[in-house]
Amino acid sequence: MPAKSKRAKKVAPSKRAPFHLTYATMFDPPEELHRSFETALAKVKQGLGREYPMYINGAEASAAEKFDDRSPIDTDWLLGRFQKGGAADAKAAIAAARAAFPAWSALPWQRRVRYLRAASALISRRVFEFAAVTALEVGKNRMEALGDVQEAADLIAYYCDQMEAHDGYVTAMGRDPLKGFTASNTSVLRPYGVWVVISPWNFPVALSGGPSGAALLAGNTLVMKPATDTPWVGQFLARCLLDAGLPKGVVNFVTGPGSTLGEELITNPGVDGITFTGSFDVGMHIIRGFAGGKWPRPCIAEMGGKNAVIVSRHADLDQAALGCYRSAYGLQGQKCSAASRIFVERAVKDQLTARMLALLERTNIGDPTIRENWLGPVANAAGARSYESYCAELRQAGTILFGGRRLTQGALAKGYFCAPTLVDNVPAAHRLWREEMFLPITMIAGVDSLEDAMRRANDADYGLTGGFYGNRREAEWYFDHIQAGTVYANRPQGATTGAWPGLQPFGGWKGSGSTGKSAGGLFYLPQFMREQSRTLISEK
Ligand code: NDP
Repeated sequence: MPAKSKRAKKVAPSKRAPFHLTYATMFDPPEELHRSFETALAKVKQGLGREYPMYINGAEASAAEKFDDRSPIDTDWLLGRFQKGGAADAKAAIAAARAAFPAWSALPWQRRVRYLRAASALISRRVFEFAAVTALEVGKNRMEALGDVQEAADLIAYYCDQMEAHDGYVTAMGRDPLKGFTASNTSVLRPYGVWVVISPWNFPVALSGGPSGAALLAGNTLVMKPATDTPWVGQFLARCLLDAGLPKGVVNFVTGPGSTLGEELITNPGVDGITFTGSFDVGMHIIRGFAGGKWPRPCIAEMGGKNAVIVSRHADLDQAALGCYRSAYGLQGQKCSAASRIFVERAVKDQLTARMLALLERTNIGDPTIRENWLGPVANAAGARSYESYCAELRQAGTILFGGRRLTQGALAKGYFCAPTLVDNVPAAHRLWREEMFLPITMIAGVDSLEDAMRRANDADYGLTGGFYGNRREAEWYFDHIQAGTVYANRPQGATTGAWPGLQPFGGWKGSGSTGKSAGGLFYLPQFMREQSRTLISEK
């Protein structure tokens, strides 16, 4: 009798698990998702060039000076005009947040969860329009943009789940045996006060939305400052929070330069806590400055990365090449988690390189809102200039195997397009093995052993993410020895990138993060609160 062929059980469409976008599932989305994005993009493009306000104490606020926000895809596209706020606006926002704190913090935590669940749902409901704004402003492809927005919604929902799972972080403790008395001991986590969230331009939705959601759930009131490159995304997010009905003054949103408005936010004694995500230099400046206050205050700083991939001779090289390629060049290499160093055992280096080159040859680059294009421009003129100077330096130091030039032909001429670049033969002592470039440039080197690879991977001041390809025993060894907060083994979806709330807590060690507790993970939310131990004695 012929053996019965094993077939996957057919699942009627209605019973199929609904598609849930994460950075790992984004490579194969349903067709409907593309159609919805395109409809939203057309709508958003019709409204370009408007002026947008700041929001202070529940009202629109404007500044004397404005600045233009242009798309890196085509700098002729004026996306909007924004308020160039300064120190006075920062002060007003902090004062509004201070005034709103007593009532917001006194709400039962369940009410705050309800508000934040509403905000998360609103972000999800507006996901396509929000992603279109993000794609135009950052230069992300549609799937990356949708991922950024959905991640923000999921981060907030995850923190709501955590709040509920821990009963609002009110925990009965043990009782000390007192003769004639009853002792009730309780641990309560309580908010700090006014919380500032300063975010970067590369994941402007998730990296504002996540920490803002956590700060608010915890009972703090908020001042948000987006990067100067992404005020539109910031404004869209602020609108979602305000439209969710959060009371006046609880959420304040200001735009303006880090050097003026930002400085006021980080030096003002009325601020009780900060979450900063951005570069190492600015992060360390904030940590040091914030520590100079009257007393210690929490400063959660998520900073840069110089993430390495190690490839063993036992690796599946197709998976390794795909994972390295996706993490090195996705979002034009402008992820803190980007794979910027590849250490591969010499026996398989040529094969891995050939596979990566084949993928690079097939890369579509152009307006990233167009479905076919995987890579868009780098985010700003400074990035494009840095790309050129890094490439010139690397051409001297090693061999550029692919890329190494700006792309300026045809429709690309008005944007900041740069070819994805793979570099070989750079001496181990070269500074660019250790410095974050934050561009679509990756360096590869052959190594004699996995120990050699590990030594080089750990030889960096950063410790954000890491990737490994090899057998299971090697992977366990890798996890035990790599100095990084978020690590993956044998992942074709991305060697070093693609964490999702509730699945992969995301945070860095060493120069990549100040707390050792990761976003979207178990220990994140309590950082926005301080513990009060309550003992109440009553007579028996
Ligand atoms: P920056 O450090 O240049 O800026 C980040 C934010 O800080 C911006 O909003 C900026 O405002 C603000 N800022 C700058 N100077 C000051 C100041 N003196 N006082 C207060 N605020 C200030 O980073 P980028 O925006 O260029 O982002 C890229 C960096 O972020 C990379 O290093 C990347 O690795 C890191 N990053 C880290 C992540 C992580 O989770 N660890 C995730 C994503 C990115 P303005 O734009 O107005 O200057």
